[in-house]
Amino acid sequence: MSVLVTGGAGYIGSHMAHELLDAGEDVVIIDNLSTGFRWAVPPGAQLVVGDFGDSNLVPRIFADNRIDSIIHFAAKTVVPESVADPLGYYLNNTAKARALLECAVKAGVKNFIFSSTAAVYGNPERNPVAEDDSLNPLSPYGRSKLMVEWMLSDAAQAHDMRYVILRYFNVAGADPQGRAGQSTARATHLIKVATQAALGLRPGMEVFGVDYPTPDGSGLRDYIHVSDLARAHSAALKHLRSGGDSCTCNCGYQTGYSVLEVIDLVKKISGVDFPVKISGRRPGDAAAVIAANQRIKSRLGWTPEYDDLELILRHAYEWERRLFEQPKKPKLFSYDRLVASS
Ligand code: UDP
Repeated sequence: MSVLVTGGAGYIGSHMAHELLDAGEDVVIIDNLSTGFRWAVPPGAQLVVGDFGDSNLVPRIFADNRIDSIIHFAAKTVVPESVADPLGYYLNNTAKARALLECAVKAGVKNFIFSSTAAVYGNPERNPVAEDDSLNPLSPYGRSKLMVEWMLSDAAQAHDMRYVILRYFNVAGADPQGRAGQSTARATHLIKVATQAALGLRPGMEVFGVDYPTPDGSGLRDYIHVSDLARAHSAALKHLRSGGDSCTCNCGYQTGYSVLEVIDLVKKISGVDFPVKISGRRPGDAAAVIAANQRIKSRLGWTPEYDDLELILRHAYEWERRLFEQPKKPKLFSYDRLVASS
């Protein structure tokens, strides 16, 4: 049987495609290459360039391949962008996911794994936050994902389909073998920004708030290595294929690091003391978001392998350095424009 990976040319999806191929799975990727890259698709995976919400194209993929499982990554994921363009987010993340689900139900696909987010908790009522704690997404992005969680749960009640919803905390790092990594030049995430500052691709960076009720005043987050996250999906796939119940699991290490700790460690790894400016809080940011992870360990048998912030940052830094240095790729990533405009 084959696995359909939506967004398999993107950051997390490409790691997943490698992980599945390494395990001997047949992999079909659907990606419209809006933020992903054709070169990020591993050799051995079949790439269909198109939209996962295309109700003409997707049934053809099901007709041509024996797909028993879908891992649905493709989405827009930038919180401030979702505030500026909520309807774009509800179309892409919610309405198109509904179309995909309908095609999956009609084709009799039994297993569905969905990329959700810690953003569904908003400002958690406690940390570590557990799956049954209250849900209060603060952005259209978080709400666009939560609606899919609800649709999936309702569809699984009504049809012969089971699901695993994985709520990602802060995903970072790169494939330890150097085959994949975060390649979006304009990504706004802390670790991407810090590694770019260390490489001189930005003149420096900002810390958004040091007046939070945390030990050093900056935000606390739970950073999970992208390869451990891919493994979580493999564990979910195994769980579903062996008849396990539908479930929702956090994906994180249950450990929080502050923004200032992350920046200090990037400076240590790179040996570059890049400029850091303390700025005001970024709208919509929570003080601390840390995953309770007992459920994923007990229900899916997930065991993290790279639970080490320094290792995560080394992998991220190494990937960023290679992206910058490889002669072909800087053109693709437009680093010149990035430096000029930052
Ligand atoms: N952050 C920061 N400077 C940056 C990017 C992020 O201080 O240039 C902070 C952000 O305010 C938050 C943490 O780093 O406290 C993680 O933010 P990121 O955007 O990486 O992920 P999020 O937690 O928002 O999904």
